[in-house]
Amino acid sequence: MKLLSFYPADWLDITQVIKAANHYECCACGRQCRRPGEFYLGWQYELTVAHYDNEYDAPAVFLVALCARCHLLHDAPFVWVARRRHCRQRQRQAGQLELQLAASVSIHV
Ligand SMILES: [Zn+2]
Repeated sequence: MKLLSFYPADWLDITQVIKAANHYECCACGRQCRRPGEFYLGWQYELTVAHYDNEYDAPAVFLVALCARCHLLHDAPFVWVARRRHCRQRQRQAGQLELQLAASVSIHV
């Protein structure tokens, strides 16, 4: 899986330890999520592990167990910033010119 290349080789083991330590409950909303071997009840009951501070390459990271819904809500602001950055990058590559604004702009009528 290509996405896992950003994570340490033992990422899946780390996530299992964190999920088990939290008794398969979401740290944000307290939802009881699916344990290993239980029936799939829907994405709402899948427990994930999130980088709480979104620091992926820091020497010490803060990981939390979040249900899928809380994980999406947690990541939304970071995803929006990344999408905007990628959009601007694509526009620049396509030839979009940038307007450099001065710190103070005066308008003469
Ligand atoms: Zn939750």
